[in-house]
Amino acid sequence: MIVAPLGSGSAGNAYYFESDGTSILVDAGFGPRETRKRLEGVGRDIEQLKGIVLTHEHYDHIRGAERIARKYGIPIYLTRGTLDASRIDRAETPLIVFDNDTTFTIGELNVHARKIIHDAADPACFVIEARDGTRVGIASDLGHVDDPVLKHLKNCDGLFFESNHDLDMLRMGTYPWSLKRRIMSRFGHLSNDDSMLAVQRMIGAETQTLCLIHLSQKNNHESIVRDMAAKLLKRTGAQLELGIALQERPTGVFEVRRGRRAATTRAVNAQMALW
Ligand SMILES: [Zn+2]
Ligand SMILES: [Zn+2]
Repeated sequence: MIVAPLGSGSAGNAYYFESDGTSILVDAGFGPRETRKRLEGVGRDIEQLKGIVLTHEHYDHIRGAERIARKYGIPIYLTRGTLDASRIDRAETPLIVFDNDTTFTIGELNVHARKIIHDAADPACFVIEARDGTRVGIASDLGHVDDPVLKHLKNCDGLFFESNHDLDMLRMGTYPWSLKRRIMSRFGHLSNDDSMLAVQRMIGAETQTLCLIHLSQKNNHESIVRDMAAKLLKRTGAQLELGIALQERPTGVFEVRRGRRAATTRAVNAQMALW
C-alpha cells in the first residue's frame, strides 16, 4: 500500500492511500486546488480518487471535502454524527454514511472504523486493509487512547498516529488557558508523552512504518518528536521506518507491504546462518 501524508496539523489534514488501483483520501482539510497540487507533488491525480473518508467534522479535516466531492464526483464517507455536525449540503454532495465499529469497502480497500475520544460528534480512526492483507492504521485528534482503540491499531504494518504537543511548550505558550485546558483534556489532543506510551503498546512484529502526525506548529517541534520516537524505538529494539508528517507540504511516499519486516528479518537470519 502507498501512503502519502499531504499535509498534517491544525491548519489542514489530508492523507492519501492507494492499493491495487484504488486510491482514497482520509480527510480533506485543504481546498480543491491545494489538494490537487499536493497530490501532483507525490505524482498522483485527484481525478483518480474513489472516496474521501472523514475522521470528524473539525474544519482542519473537512475544509475541502464538499467542494472536492462535488467538483470531481467523489463520494464522502462519514459517520451520521459527522454529517449532522457539518454543513455539508446533503442534496448536492455524494455521501455514504458508515457506522463506527464496522467495516466498509471502497474498491479494493477495506476500511475498519473505530470510534475515538475527541470533542467531536462521532469521530473515527481507521485501519485500512489492502487485498494482500497489508494493514495501515491512522488516528489523530484523540484526547485519550482507550483499550478498544489500542486493540484496533495494534500490530499494523504501518501506523500513522497523532503526537500533538509538548506539554511544557503548551503550558508555557501563548494559548488562552481555556484552549490549553481543552487540548490537554480527555477530549482534546495527545501529548508527545501519551502518544509514545500508546505507540509502544501498538507497534508489533509486523509494524514496519511509524509516522507521527498532527504536530502542533505552536506547541511542538519536529525534532522533539523525532528524538522521542527514536529513543522509544531504540529502547524497544524495533527497527522501523520513522516519519514525521509536515504541515506545509507532502511528507513523501511510504510503501507499506504485509510481511516485509518479517521477510527482512528472515533474510538477515538466513544470512547470519550462512556465516
Ligand atoms: Zn485536527
Ligand atoms: Zn479535531
